[in-house]
Amino acid sequence: MKTKNKIYIIFLGAPGSGKGTQADMLGEYLNIPVISPGELLRHEIETKSLLGRSIKKKLSKGQLVANDIVEKIIDKRISKKDTQNGFILDGYPRRLKQASLLKDRLKKITSQNSVLVIDIIIRDKVIKERVTGRRVCDCGATYHLVNNPPKKKDVCDLCGLKLYQRDDDKHNVIADRLKHFHARVRKINKYLEKYYKIVKINGELSIKDTKNEIIKIVKNEIE
Ligand code: AMP
Repeated sequence: MKTKNKIYIIFLGAPGSGKGTQADMLGEYLNIPVISPGELLRHEIETKSLLGRSIKKKLSKGQLVANDIVEKIIDKRISKKDTQNGFILDGYPRRLKQASLLKDRLKKITSQNSVLVIDIIIRDKVIKERVTGRRVCDCGATYHLVNNPPKKKDVCDLCGLKLYQRDDDKHNVIADRLKHFHARVRKINKYLEKYYKIVKINGELSIKDTKNEIIKIVKNEIE
């Protein structure tokens, strides 16, 4: 779908809530880029850049990377030409400071009513089941041992590489990430709702039903 107006969407939701999957599908639907600091940081690690080597430990433990690093990669990505009709943020802001920097940044490029916050709500119990079963491939494909298994055990359907579990998807790490997420999310929500419309989406539905809910809401906003 081509949008006449610019739209800026911020996805909130716990790690493992499915926000990455939904953000990618919505990005494709609206034809605007998805900006995910997690993806950008993992790319730095994969290419073994200086930055990648310095943040590897943080990512494997599921801890947040320093603000100055995140701000730099976000600024660099936002300044690319493909963001001219808007963008979707997946995994940013994750700190109150990031929320306030984002508000300042958006103020320079758009009006408040072109921004929509989508908050995906899901219980921790469901997240733990989902995340610990997730298997990924270096080509970007994602599987789930129960809900979306590869045709051949531990092998990527798309490229044949061996699948693996992200360190930060391991049980003790996800429990820790959720604890920190809950400690921060309320403040971020409270901050963002002062400026933007926030819609809550049930993330425990199937991927398709969640997607349809999101598209219905977004269509309403842009028409
Ligand atoms: P994600 O792919 O969104 O699950 O993020 C993976 C990891 O990247 C997180 O556990 C953090 O280590 C780092 N990260 C992602 N987004 C942020 C952010 N907004 N601020 C700081 N660190 C982040």
